[in-house]
Amino acid sequence: MILAVASGKGGTGKTTLSVNLARMFGSAVRLLDCDVEEPNDHLFLQGTTIKEEIVTIPIPQVDESLCDGCGECGSFCAYHAIVSFGTKPLVFPEMCHSCGGCAIVCPQKAIHEADKRIGVVETIQAENITLIRGCLDVGVAMAPPLVRAVKARLENGQPAILDAPPGTSCPVIAALRGADFVVLVTEPTPFGLHDLKLAVDMVRELRIPFGVVVNRVGIGDDRVHVFCRRERIPILLEIPEDRRIAEAFSRGELIVNALPEYRRLFQSLIEKTMSVESGKRC
Ligand code: SF4
Ligand code: SF4
Repeated sequence: MILAVASGKGGTGKTTLSVNLARMFGSAVRLLDCDVEEPNDHLFLQGTTIKEEIVTIPIPQVDESLCDGCGECGSFCAYHAIVSFGTKPLVFPEMCHSCGGCAIVCPQKAIHEADKRIGVVETIQAENITLIRGCLDVGVAMAPPLVRAVKARLENGQPAILDAPPGTSCPVIAALRGADFVVLVTEPTPFGLHDLKLAVDMVRELRIPFGVVVNRVGIGDDRVHVFCRRERIPILLEIPEDRRIAEAFSRGELIVNALPEYRRLFQSLIEKTMSVESGKRC
C-alpha cells in the first residue's frame, strides 16, 4: 500500500500530515520524502542516518574529433538541450532529460554519455519509520529523476507514505504514479480551493483513488466543503485551526506526541485509506 500525500500548493500541512501518519502507523513503514527541492520530514523525526547515496543522470558528451557538425542531434532533441549551428554542438545539461536519443541518431557515433550528479538519497531510521529523503543539489532543475530514485527504495510488501512535492508539475506526477491512494491536503480558503481544483484534475487524470484532508478548519469559508460535496469527493479528515499545532510545528514536534488527543484523528485517516485496498472507497 502506497499512500501519497499531495497538495495543489505548498504550506497547506502536507509535511505535518505525512510525518504524523507515519508515526501513527505503529508497525514498520517507509516514509518517502519526494519533495526533493525542500525535503523537511527529517526535521520532525529524531533518527539516525544509515545510508547516503549519490544519484546521477547520464548527460551527452560530444567527441569533437568525430563530429562533422551535421546537426542531427539538435534536430532530434525536443528539449533543445543540444544545439548545433554547423559546428560541434553545445550541450545544456540543465535542460537534458537523459533520453539518450541524440547518441542514437548521431551518424558519426560522436556522442557518449557521462554521469552528472543531481543529488543524494539519504536513508534515516527513526523508530518504526524508515525515512528515505531525496535532496536535490543546488542549481539542479531536474527533480523527476531524483523523485524516481527515492521511489526505487520502496520495499516490496512494506507500507509506505509518500510526501509528494507541492503543485501539479512534472515532479508531482513522477511522485504520484504508482500510488494506491492520494490524500489531497487543502485549506478552507479561496486560494486553497483554487489549488485543490487543479490537484483534483491531476489525480483524476492519473486515475488514482483520492480523498481530501482539510487543514486549519475554522479559518476562511465553506467553499472547499461545498466543492467536495458537489464533486462527491470524500473529506477524510478535518484538522481544526489550533494554535498549539502551529507551536508544536515550530518546535519540530509531532502533533501526535505534543497533543495526544489528536492521535485518534490520524489513526482514523489511516484506517479509512487502508480500506481502499479492499475496494471499499474510491
Ligand atoms: S539525451 Fe535526450 S534530452 Fe538530452 S540532449 Fe540528448 S536528445 Fe536531448
Ligand atoms: S549528430 Fe553527431 S555528428 Fe552530427 S552534429 Fe550532432 S554530435 Fe556532431
